[in-house]
Amino acid sequence: MSICISIGHGKTTSGAYDPGYVLNSFYEHELAKKIGLFAYEYLKENFDLECETLNFDSELFLTDRIKKINQEKYDLVVEIHLNLSGGEGVEAYRSVRSNTSLGEVICNEVSRATGMKNGGVKEKTTNSGCDFHSIIRETNSEVVIVTCGFMNSLYDMNVLSTTLGQKEIGSAIAKGIAIYKKLI
Ligand SMILES: [Zn+2]
Repeated sequence: MSICISIGHGKTTSGAYDPGYVLNSFYEHELAKKIGLFAYEYLKENFDLECETLNFDSELFLTDRIKKINQEKYDLVVEIHLNLSGGEGVEAYRSVRSNTSLGEVICNEVSRATGMKNGGVKEKTTNSGCDFHSIIRETNSEVVIVTCGFMNSLYDMNVLSTTLGQKEIGSAIAKGIAIYKKLI
């Protein structure tokens, strides 16, 4: 079984840096990278499974990430993002083609570890009923997007902006994957 932790944003179509959402000195991509690294490290340290990172060096645009996921045929991909405003807490997105509980399990673990609101798993579609997010729509692996809190939420930012909070979220994502895969 191969697992991939992917980081959202980092590179634009023209090759420039894409920070994702920006709030003061905080960049979505940089925070996601820190969380992703803790998730990856927790998986490597605690479980005997094949785990890879994607876009940790901000080198892959969205279409590059999609291409790589389809090439590597990972069993499971978690792509890490943050939200900006209009809500609070951790949420996940899955495909309308899938009824996977992976996102739900991850949200439960992150919420339990951090006290952040549990927004649960959602499906976002276009008018024609296809998945809205291309990384979910155009890949064949089990892909879940986890948005690890809202940068405009004081509570969420208190967690997101500290190394301890980033470690809590990352470890909780890893535990969620392990629980979903019945490794613990
Ligand atoms: Zn994002």
